[in-house]
Amino acid sequence: MDGNSISFWKDCWLFDIPLNSILVGPLSRSDEDLQVADVFSCADFNSSLISYPLPDTILETIKANPISKIGLGNDSYSWKGSRDGSFSMKVAYLMAKGVNPNPVMNWNWIWKIHTLPKIQCFIWLLCYERLKTLDLLSRLGIVESNVCPMCLVAKETCDHLCRECPSSSFIWHTFFSQGTVGSSNSLFQWIKDNCLSKNMCPTIPIPWGTVFSFILWSIWLQRNNKLYSSNVFEPNYIISIIWDKVFEFYSASPLPSPKNTQKESRLVCWEKPPEGYCKLNTDGSAHGNPGLASAGGVIRDHMGRWIVGFACKIGYASCLRAELWGIREGLLLAYQRNIQNLIVGVDSFVATQLLSCCFSPHHPLYSLILDCREILSRIPRTRIQHVYREANQCADALTAVAHSLPVDFVSFDCSPPGLLLYYEADMRGTYRQIDPTIVHPSIALLQERFKQLERAKEMRQEKELLRMFPESRQINAAMPYVPCRSLFHPVLTLQSELPLQCTLKREASL
Ligand SMILES: [Zn+2]
Repeated sequence: MDGNSISFWKDCWLFDIPLNSILVGPLSRSDEDLQVADVFSCADFNSSLISYPLPDTILETIKANPISKIGLGNDSYSWKGSRDGSFSMKVAYLMAKGVNPNPVMNWNWIWKIHTLPKIQCFIWLLCYERLKTLDLLSRLGIVESNVCPMCLVAKETCDHLCRECPSSSFIWHTFFSQGTVGSSNSLFQWIKDNCLSKNMCPTIPIPWGTVFSFILWSIWLQRNNKLYSSNVFEPNYIISIIWDKVFEFYSASPLPSPKNTQKESRLVCWEKPPEGYCKLNTDGSAHGNPGLASAGGVIRDHMGRWIVGFACKIGYASCLRAELWGIREGLLLAYQRNIQNLIVGVDSFVATQLLSCCFSPHHPLYSLILDCREILSRIPRTRIQHVYREANQCADALTAVAHSLPVDFVSFDCSPPGLLLYYEADMRGTYRQIDPTIVHPSIALLQERFKQLERAKEMRQEKELLRMFPESRQINAAMPYVPCRSLFHPVLTLQSELPLQCTLKREASL
């Protein structure tokens, strides 16, 4: 935006409300006509035209507003409900319903549950309320009835299916004594608390989170059997199936133990650009997100020699805005120094994506992105590179320096004394270690996996024998499940009285 058509006091350009709503009393005639462009001189904030004292936080937020520095882009509307400023009917619908269209949801925990991938996907659907329950299908007009097929009483919602239905609560009550099921208010929190539980089942050494996920999955399978195959199984039988499945999964895939893991060290260093090229490294940070933000950067030649550096205070902004702000300042310096071949190293992946991919003209940071792209197009040869933070330490240190600057912008024609350590290390090509990641040694892991498969095969054979002699084992979920090796008696293995179709039927229910 250039701010020429936006009223400083009356338009919602800074927050969701206009700035005059925080004032008491009418505006003066001169303030009525004040435009946003009037308080920026060459994109730098000039507060002298504002006749009312504003809190420092608001002044810092105005200062960080990304007005185009090279006069590009006109004012445009940005849809506040979406992150990239584009209009979306879905977002409009959610906002009309009073639902936050951009809830802060962290789904990563689902993929860390120690269970089967298909169960992880099932739990994700459940938490996202996208499981194809009859309630959802009837709301979509696919089925007529939304009544639970298990109890034939209530609506089949996700919550009813998992917790409230009598057939589900029977299974849960059987397991209550064996874990911390709890009863959080929301279904999402309930699932999350149990899946992430660090407790072990008291009767068998298997984490409760794993058992819990298998129980949820089995409830869903049981419901599908009833609905689509009209198969009804005894709850005790379902419980025995759950134990079998959990035990088989855990035996074949135990939690990684410390002896099977090791930390992999990765080393990175600042890479010199090819001969004839210069390299710009930039960084931006905010104390809080958003918070008081700053940016810094340095341009060096192919030998690693310092050409120019900078540090600047931005105002109250997000980290992404600070990153883009730093890139724009660095590119302007490179352009002013008439650098023809430039590599730009940035440690923000999102910022590099915004500079190299398509983006909406309604994006809140449109002016900054457009400025960067324009300056890049004016430099004959450029390349944008995503770099590790450990290889961007000079820019990172300059960004930290900026927070304590007495002025808003400082350029450095040689390395500041506080930076010499990083600068000289980069010149020498010193490697730095990035955060170690835990990996499994591949050969040891393969050997262990082979043994696990062998054990799983052995257990499957045991279970087949147990199926042939169901009376030999009274199912009781309250008792620990221990594969009974004493059943491997030669006499027992020679006899099979269970009809074949019965065995198949039990397999199909899994
Ligand atoms: Zn029900």
